[in-house]
Amino acid sequence: MLESKKIPPLDEEEIAYFYSLLQEELTNYDCGTLCKDQNGGIPFCCSVENAVPFLYRAEFSFLKKRTDLWKVWNPKTKNEIKLQKSHEDEHTVFCECKGVAFCERENRSISCRTFPLEPYIDKRGVFVGLVFMREFKHGCPLTQRTKDIRQEFIDTNFLFWEKLMLRKPNEYETYRRSSIAYRRYRTKTKEEFPIFFPSHLKGKEYLKKYL
Ligand code: SF4
Ligand code: SF4
Repeated sequence: MLESKKIPPLDEEEIAYFYSLLQEELTNYDCGTLCKDQNGGIPFCCSVENAVPFLYRAEFSFLKKRTDLWKVWNPKTKNEIKLQKSHEDEHTVFCECKGVAFCERENRSISCRTFPLEPYIDKRGVFVGLVFMREFKHGCPLTQRTKDIRQEFIDTNFLFWEKLMLRKPNEYETYRRSSIAYRRYRTKTKEEFPIFFPSHLKGKEYLKKYL
């Protein structure tokens, strides 16, 4: 029988490895040009009013050794305080960067490097692709320009999520639930949602019945 062992938190070496996987550009152009004019000159996803980067504590300490770009987020409204209380734990922390004018590409967080996609877990419970993060469905213009998302970005993000979910079963559970919610919404509204497949799963007929 397998010994039940507490899974240790991520460490800084693993974070460095994850960063090395998450290097591909999302699009072939600066997609911030699609949304910044409607958002006071700041790309939608780089404004804490819209999306607060959620970092692993090991990631925050790793970044603090490399840069002064990041600090712990300071929630101001009641809803923000509620968000912080309901999500943060001993392994995770909401942070904010100094702003888009100071962005350092090599020191972006995992949240920055994976936005706007997250894992999609099919009806069998198998990780098969990526979908738009449900809460940003209406903020990111790429939801209307899905062809602009680069296959290389999808492939490397898939690899990252596969490794992360093996390492952190609670993340798998989070995305399993959000995938169920996606399917429920589709059944209710008859609205399809795009699924971005990694190269090795593209065009696989057998998958269709599980999506
Ligand atoms: S990912 Fe979406 S929200 Fe973020 S900069 Fe690109 S288009 Fe804007
Ligand atoms: S680090 Fe860069 S990509 Fe990430 S939120 Fe800040 S400005 Fe945006």
